[in-house]
Amino acid sequence: SKFVHILGVPFVNTNQKDFINTLQNHIARQERTFVVTANPEIVMHSLEDSQYKQTLAKAQYITADGIGIVKAAAIVGEPLPERVSGYDLMLDLLESAHNNHSSIFFLGAAEEVLQQTVAKAKREYPGIKIAGSHNGFFDWHDHLLPQKIKNAAPDIVFVALGFPRQEQWIGAHIEEFDKGIFIGIGGSFDVFSG
Ligand code: UDP
Repeated sequence: SKFVHILGVPFVNTNQKDFINTLQNHIARQERTFVVTANPEIVMHSLEDSQYKQTLAKAQYITADGIGIVKAAAIVGEPLPERVSGYDLMLDLLESAHNNHSSIFFLGAAEEVLQQTVAKAKREYPGIKIAGSHNGFFDWHDHLLPQKIKNAAPDIVFVALGFPRQEQWIGAHIEEFDKGIFIGIGGSFDVFSG
């Protein structure tokens, strides 16, 4: 089937390559898409926090971020082909954005890490358009940031605020945007820039 449920969380039954294709199609059709890359910690948290579970329910796709989820799927008899991690998706989305000249907004991490991430992304994927960037330490009640992203209308928004903040932020604002892939990718900027 299209989804594999683990402790009530519906994981998309796909591999990395097919999933990138799926996201490319959403970008081409300018569809707003919320992607969660979920590890066992996220699944456990969804059991304890009903608001977080409701946030996850807003996502179009929840991918298996980590071998723990892939193993759990095998145990419940509905195997998932492979892990589809936030970091790997970030790299493949950068590659596909480079080829298609898609625009990207980088949101999250400390200012220095963010600047290094944007600089390296420009250098290694020169075909991408930088729609903008903002560090991950901002006032959640400030409406200027979501407005800035809405106005920039990026094809992809990398949200690297860490779990569970990134899902909460996307869940709180997703309906304000007209289009874009919004994907929570944890500490990926730190890894990419380091
Ligand atoms: N982070 C952020 N805003 C915050 C807290 C954290 O942007 O208010 C960033 C942090 O700088 C790091 C990323 O979120 O780049 C991941 O943080 P952490 O390792 O705590 O999250 P996890 O890997 O558990 O998702």
